[in-house]
Amino acid sequence: MSGAIVLFPGQLLPRPSAASLRAGLGVAVEDGRVMEVAEAALLRARWPGAQQIELPDCLIMPGLVNAHQHGRGLSQVQLGYHDDYLETWIASRRGRGVLDAYAVTRLAAARMLANGVTCTVHANYSYGSGDYESELRAQLAAYDEVGIRVAMCVGAMDRGQIVYPPHEACFMAGLPGELQQWLNRSGAPLYARDAASTIALMARLQADFRGHPRIRLCYGPAGPQWVSEATWSALASDAGRRGIGLHLHALESPAQQAVAKELFPGGVFAWLEKLGAMTPRTVIAHGVWANDADMEIIARTGATVVRNPGCNLRLRNGIAPMVRYLAHGVRLAIGTDNASLADDEDLLAELRLAANLAREPRWDAPPPPSVDQLLAMTTVNGAVAAQFAPEVGTLEAGKRADLVAISLVRTCAPYLDPDMPLVAALLARAGGSDVRLTMVDGRILYRDGRLTGLDMAEIEQAAADAARRARLPADAASRERAQQLDAHLRRHYRAVSDSPSRSGAG
Ligand SMILES: [Zn+2]
Repeated sequence: MSGAIVLFPGQLLPRPSAASLRAGLGVAVEDGRVMEVAEAALLRARWPGAQQIELPDCLIMPGLVNAHQHGRGLSQVQLGYHDDYLETWIASRRGRGVLDAYAVTRLAAARMLANGVTCTVHANYSYGSGDYESELRAQLAAYDEVGIRVAMCVGAMDRGQIVYPPHEACFMAGLPGELQQWLNRSGAPLYARDAASTIALMARLQADFRGHPRIRLCYGPAGPQWVSEATWSALASDAGRRGIGLHLHALESPAQQAVAKELFPGGVFAWLEKLGAMTPRTVIAHGVWANDADMEIIARTGATVVRNPGCNLRLRNGIAPMVRYLAHGVRLAIGTDNASLADDEDLLAELRLAANLAREPRWDAPPPPSVDQLLAMTTVNGAVAAQFAPEVGTLEAGKRADLVAISLVRTCAPYLDPDMPLVAALLARAGGSDVRLTMVDGRILYRDGRLTGLDMAEIEQAAADAARRARLPADAASRERAQQLDAHLRRHYRAVSDSPSRSGAG
């Protein structure tokens, strides 16, 4: 690490607490760590040889954490997929070729930096190349090159690839023969073959990335209906042995809620708890359809729930009951899922969307999330979800130096009433385009619209080239088959979701 840096912002928010906001402070950084947060005059005297960066019209706060995304640097819209029901949206990928995981993940990481994100969770994702380990290693190389901090999920999925259980056999039996044949053909496995090979893959990756300052690993079992009981048990116990997390999707869609009633009559989180999968290192993405009993288990076991508000709206999954989660004392974080409302990677905008969707139109409704709760979601709570707590999430001496400088110009100009708390105004008005500087592990990686060490245009070009190459599947008939399948899926899930066992809870 070369040389110390001292930053002098107009305002410093060292912790996710509006009360911690102070003017006249600076942050000294060296060897990847925050060395001091102190009065600017003191720091100028103590760090005479340091690079001094003046940011008088900015607020510096801990770097933002995008606690759930999949490294999709080109959005699904950009790749030609319309927003749709989650289940048909996922299935539509069957008709396409294999994307270059490195190229698109590198673009995702670069765009996150440009939006002030310093740390992220890369949830399970497979490009279906048949060599999942190479995909994972390419993605890890992309994050490492860009320099963002990442918790990488080693994914797993061993059931429900065509439709959710327990309806697979009945669904297949109702398909025309040619579609059955197409679905039954021995396609490449999406992830490692089974629990044992997933655990072996984790062991190899841990051996190679042990001690890496910016990379952590966790298991990413896709979701309760996508992973068998035996695999859940095996991964949960191995995660416990290694002291790593489990990051899953759960109760994301109405169809998932409907099958959960059949598969897990006692409740999906009660089932996961019995299998040893509910711990303080467990992270649940979406959780749109959780009820109070679910929330009680999540709160009691100390798991984290990630809000993905834009994605939930776009894929017709609804609005997660955020204020009820907060009332239960559940730790909440925020993620873009690479499908934010405006199809960008603007995490501050997603946070604002989550906050506003929590404003229930009833006089007796619980209060919407506070400024401090929202700040915690993007910082300390995200750090827990990404397995980097307590080293990141606050700016204090000894912590890793992950921070973002956000311009206050758009928030405050031409006028901001002195009675309006600055941090509340920032959360109401600021977005990714206001990010002036992003630092990860003591290195400035993004400043004034540019990556400092990489060429954004080259990264974008490489991702676009990868998309062009993957546009058509090797087997041209696949696209047509995928379209035929779509109509059957719609009929199937309409029936599943209309079944009498489904309650309207949520
Ligand atoms: Zn996701």
